[in-house]
Amino acid sequence: MLIDTHAHIYTDEFAKDIDSILQAARDAQVSKIYMPNIDRTSIDAMHHLADTYPDLCLPMMGLHPCYVEEDYKAQLAEFKALHDSERTYYGVGEIGLDYYWDLTFKTQQKAAFETQVNWGIELDLPIIIHSRDSLDDSIDMVSSLQNGSLSGVFHCFNGTIDQAKKALDCGFYLGLGGVITFKNAKLGDMVKYLPQDRIVLETDSPYLAPHPHRGSKNQSKYIPVIAEKVAEFREESFDVVAGYTTANANVLFKA
Ligand SMILES: [Zn+2]
Repeated sequence: MLIDTHAHIYTDEFAKDIDSILQAARDAQVSKIYMPNIDRTSIDAMHHLADTYPDLCLPMMGLHPCYVEEDYKAQLAEFKALHDSERTYYGVGEIGLDYYWDLTFKTQQKAAFETQVNWGIELDLPIIIHSRDSLDDSIDMVSSLQNGSLSGVFHCFNGTIDQAKKALDCGFYLGLGGVITFKNAKLGDMVKYLPQDRIVLETDSPYLAPHPHRGSKNQSKYIPVIAEKVAEFREESFDVVAGYTTANANVLFKA
């Protein structure tokens, strides 16, 4: 059994073929797919998948940093109301800081991130952190808000060993995805350094398909490709990696 801890499989590009995409994931032994929200426009499609495949597709709610704009407070109010509604969400995400695409709303990104980190504490839910060109700021913010009850994952982690140490010191999990399979990424030493009990697997579908599928649309069925690479770097068997990453995901998401 394997778990994809981060996949935007509700994306429009998959809508037509979603039955076969999810069957391919099941055939690849992926038994759960955690879906991070993006902004208010992605919610309906995500809810639809969660309602249609409730054993497989598990929704989370948050505002992605790339979509923090002038109106972010209104979106956050809507999302908090959803968290407080009858519907079950398995995490607060996708939240964080992105300094790569656009710095216009950097201050607002930080404010939105802090608000949503605090939801994680209030709602006792893990937070799913996106950070691009912002890892040190993200770790500093989590570290300063960690009160002993905050849990979560740094998704698509591709930092240095030193940054990994700091993320681990926050008590957080590190999500490993397709990037670790890229030939130029040179992440083997960092992957090998991580303790077994802090690693989870993810695709970030439809982005960042692993080698040798790079350039195609990423799907949850590629989780075994990522597990193989983790096993190779760490000199462990595939089954051992599958075992502890699944156990870790179940602890992270309180399954
Ligand atoms: Zn994502």
